[in-house]
Amino acid sequence: MSAVRWKVPERIGRLDELANNLWWSWHPRGRQVFRALDYVLWRVGGHNPVRQLREISPERLQRVAVNAEFLELYDSVMAEFDADMKTEDTWFRANYPGLLDGPVAYFSMEFAIHNSLPIYAGGLGVLAGDTCKEASDLGVPFVGVGFMYPQGYFHQRISSAGAQEEIYKQLDFDEAPVSPVLDADGRRLVVRVGLQEGFISVAVWQVRVGRVNVYLLDTNVEDNAPEHRWLSSRLYVADQEVRLQQEIVLGMGGVRVLRAMGINPAIWHINEGHTAFLVLERIREAAQRGITFADAARSVGPSTVFTTHTPVAAGHDVFHVDLMRKYFDPYCRSLGIDHKDCLSLGQQFGPGDQGFNMAALALKTSDYRYGVSRLHGSVARRMWGALWPGAQENEVPIRQITNGVHVPTWIAPEMHAVFRKYIADDWLERQDEGGIWARVYDIPDGELWRARRLLRHKLMGAILEAAQRSWAKGEVESRHLVAIGALLHPDLLTVGFVKRFAEYKRPTLIFQDIERLKRLVNDPLRPVQIVFAGKSHPADLASKYLVQRVFNLAADREFRGRIAFVEDYDMHLAHFLVQGVDVWLNNPRRLLEACGTSGMKASINGALHLSVRDGWWDEGYNGANGWAIGPTVKPQAWEEEDRLDADAIYTILERDIVPLFYTRDEKGVPVRWMGMVKEAIRSVMPGFCAKRMIREYCETVLGPAARQPRR
Ligand SMILES: *Cc1c(COP(=O)(O)O)cnc(C)c1O
Repeated sequence: MSAVRWKVPERIGRLDELANNLWWSWHPRGRQVFRALDYVLWRVGGHNPVRQLREISPERLQRVAVNAEFLELYDSVMAEFDADMKTEDTWFRANYPGLLDGPVAYFSMEFAIHNSLPIYAGGLGVLAGDTCKEASDLGVPFVGVGFMYPQGYFHQRISSAGAQEEIYKQLDFDEAPVSPVLDADGRRLVVRVGLQEGFISVAVWQVRVGRVNVYLLDTNVEDNAPEHRWLSSRLYVADQEVRLQQEIVLGMGGVRVLRAMGINPAIWHINEGHTAFLVLERIREAAQRGITFADAARSVGPSTVFTTHTPVAAGHDVFHVDLMRKYFDPYCRSLGIDHKDCLSLGQQFGPGDQGFNMAALALKTSDYRYGVSRLHGSVARRMWGALWPGAQENEVPIRQITNGVHVPTWIAPEMHAVFRKYIADDWLERQDEGGIWARVYDIPDGELWRARRLLRHKLMGAILEAAQRSWAKGEVESRHLVAIGALLHPDLLTVGFVKRFAEYKRPTLIFQDIERLKRLVNDPLRPVQIVFAGKSHPADLASKYLVQRVFNLAADREFRGRIAFVEDYDMHLAHFLVQGVDVWLNNPRRLLEACGTSGMKASINGALHLSVRDGWWDEGYNGANGWAIGPTVKPQAWEEEDRLDADAIYTILERDIVPLFYTRDEKGVPVRWMGMVKEAIRSVMPGFCAKRMIREYCETVLGPAARQPRR
């Protein structure tokens, strides 16, 4: 909110506007403005310009407003910002002129755009945030629709016994990059959404993400009953009924909110089943214009896109039909239809099915259906085949668009500088051109190694700083301090296992043979250290046990402090980790990781991927850009899979990774290692960037580009 306490001098009067558009977060010079403004506030305030502008002293503002160097930076950044906001010369316009009479409306339960807006839990949110940023960069008409969670997802702290503690912090809206959406009379826009027999009121916040707006729904509105006011307070509540209410508000309410703002999307995107109720609201709109419910249900298909991210049946939201009837009987009555007609849209297994499956609803009502990697596409076709009786597996109408990562968000500044020098000055604009990346082999090994080394040092600096803070607060004893990484060394080969802690990701797989691992870690000349980070879902006790197990092993003296569990994994920490480790370890059970994107972030920064051939790695691995763990085909039994994969991890570490990393030339550079780093960058960047993903999306949903892309 633009509640700047001190009046910003007129000469730099647009700082507030810049702070309130997260455009700055993926433009290095945009970030530079706020660093230069007051570096201490920038660092201690968590890189949050909105907060920084509230806290900065008027004297400091006066001073920078007459500082020639600052003004030059400010003026050039504002000019760049304006050019980006207003340009008509976008990729989308060049390729799809005149197409789309409204935006793509992208509905998602979570958006990870920046840490100052903690409304995400993991990969799904990061994908949504990266998609918004890339849509802005490419000029795709696009709006996001999500939830404003004032308590967001939890912050993680580990007790000295290794137990995960969840801390919820109330978001201060004055310190977040959000502004309230107002109606024509300048009052808070409030939209009413039907809930059972009554209504719930929904207010809206706007987040500016470059040219894209994300609208966040908020039920903490005065006219709502207390139990409705806190409905949107937290992400991923376990209670089924609350979850259903949330999804009704987001899906159906989201449509109403867009209409109330005069936004009429051309394409409606359901990002995972949670938001699929948006089709029921649109079917109601169509039916109220006088067509039958069945025709209305068919009518929404051509403008609806669904992406599924979950390859396990149990991972989808399924609501019991009785619960559904409690909420949707009024809907059916108002349309004069039998409840069976409505329920059938979500029943995966026909009329007797007691569950209403949100993914089934989305699959039955959208004409464009996607998995998120090549492998996941085939898994999804197999998994949902029953919805198309008689169809062969390859005829099941689900395709795939492999996810990609927003490169300006995830690339390290040090890598950016190297790429500008050796790939192309405008490499960011051309990131998806396979051809330019052959030039990565022109980068001198020593120069690339210096950047990689610096990034590892920065990661260790961040881990040490956090450990020091905990120590200074008197929160931890020495055992704990070791477990959170106080004894890590900045020059040792560093492996990262960093992801949401869930059983299928097998966070403790590398501990299968403790003695073999100890030999690796404690090698006197060529030691290995391992950094873990990740949160468990608060209700997932099994995965909380895995956090505890890793934490306690990290504290075990026999590992000499070379294993660490870093608390409170979030987007900020993710930057340090994907850029700073040498090896990115990923060992999910086969076919359970739909795509995974963290390994892409690591690879484009030159951290080598050591992964099971699941998700994107099945198509990303080329034999020279990282390593593939274990067999390609899924073993029959889980025990067998664990045993084979753990053995493969140790063998690859012992035989390949450790020798490659520690074999140095006379200048101390691991030349063959750098060869693999280059191959990782060359092969992963063009194919797994969000630019490629959005282009593919436009091509498959809107049709082939009107003219061939430039270059
Ligand atoms: C990229 C990212 C993820 C996704 O990680 P996967 O290992 O691909 O599941 C999750 N959380 C954060 C904070 C991320 O940046």
